[in-house]
Amino acid sequence: MINISHDNVAERLMRYVQVDTQSDPAGTAHPTTDKQKDLSRLLYKELRGMGITDAETDEYGYVYATIKGNSSKPNIPAICFCSHVDTAPDCSGTNVKPIHHRYYKGEDIVLPDDNSQVLRLKDNPYLSQHINHGVITASGLTLLGADDKSGVAAIMEAALFFMQNPSVKHGDIKILFTPDEEVGKGTAKVNMQKLGASFGYTLDGGEAGSLEDETFSADAASIIIEGVIVHPGYAKGKLVNALKIAGAVLNALPANEWSPETTEGREGFVHPVAVNGIAEKATIQFIVRDFTVAGLQAHHDRLKKIAQEIVAEFPGATFKYEVQEQYRNMKEVLDKYPHVVTYAEEAIERAGLTVKKESIRGGTDGSRFSYIGMPCPNIFTGMQNIHSKLEWVGTKDMAKAAETIVHLAMIWEERS
Ligand SMILES: [Zn+2]
Repeated sequence: MINISHDNVAERLMRYVQVDTQSDPAGTAHPTTDKQKDLSRLLYKELRGMGITDAETDEYGYVYATIKGNSSKPNIPAICFCSHVDTAPDCSGTNVKPIHHRYYKGEDIVLPDDNSQVLRLKDNPYLSQHINHGVITASGLTLLGADDKSGVAAIMEAALFFMQNPSVKHGDIKILFTPDEEVGKGTAKVNMQKLGASFGYTLDGGEAGSLEDETFSADAASIIIEGVIVHPGYAKGKLVNALKIAGAVLNALPANEWSPETTEGREGFVHPVAVNGIAEKATIQFIVRDFTVAGLQAHHDRLKKIAQEIVAEFPGATFKYEVQEQYRNMKEVLDKYPHVVTYAEEAIERAGLTVKKESIRGGTDGSRFSYIGMPCPNIFTGMQNIHSKLEWVGTKDMAKAAETIVHLAMIWEERS
């Protein structure tokens, strides 16, 4: 039985969310905002304070640390626990004032700095599982930042547990905190060699017990249309306007299916995200998503055929269809190492929870890590209503996430 204090992990979260670490999708530096390093430096100092002597933070805002193995078994793979320090650009992360509703009684929670922000039990049925436990919210003007500082807090609390309980046997445990996950650059400057882990787990998921081993596979696609340009005063029968063709292609997309707004579960989609151009030449950019590579290909074939049919109605016009790979479903990698996921299931059960396997309709740092040498499913932290002013997290879920980390490290030692 491993017990992590709800209060200690809550206190950690409250401390970390007060550091503004919003990332910037338009930023070109690494990290995209310098302030993310403020939290990285704090974490690095706290890890050193625990006695983790190799803890370091680099110019890009990553934090690396090793809890040295203490088992006599020689061949335990090094495993990594990873969370991101940045918060989403969708909602302010400046002056976050976290509130610990210590003994939540099931009431609707009115956030004090903006009374129109109300966390209602009927809209958030998961709150009912936290009655008589702690719930942490923001104050109404900002997000909370439990995404992903609840993961950071759980990893830090687990790290402290390992340092204080040397009788708990484990192999090398690697800790990694990353910047810029919310803007898709969380692995951009990571040093996998320095990290030195064989397998990893991101702590960046929702409800207690949830475990995600599957993400979308993702491509970007562009339809580049060339019209025929002639002086507009003398263009009768000659000019072909690329902008109008672009409009016709968009108009030919189905209204009731095949889009983010009409799909869920395991369905894929095609989503136009930008149009730009002039009468002579126009480009439509799409994102294309599916859980399988074959599914992605089917979406490309269908989209290309629509473009072909439309452009054919405009004699003289031509088009090109270009594809860029973005990321791939981590399951394609994880299926080669099934124990990475089954150990996590077992750890969640040892923490007293029921496993909920889920698929992510998006990508995670874990999908990228899985393709650069570190198979990496995603574990819950409890975070809810992320990227919004009504974001909240239950303290017992964060404690369970920390306990799951401890159990996982023990299971890797037992099985090696
Ligand atoms: Zn996250």
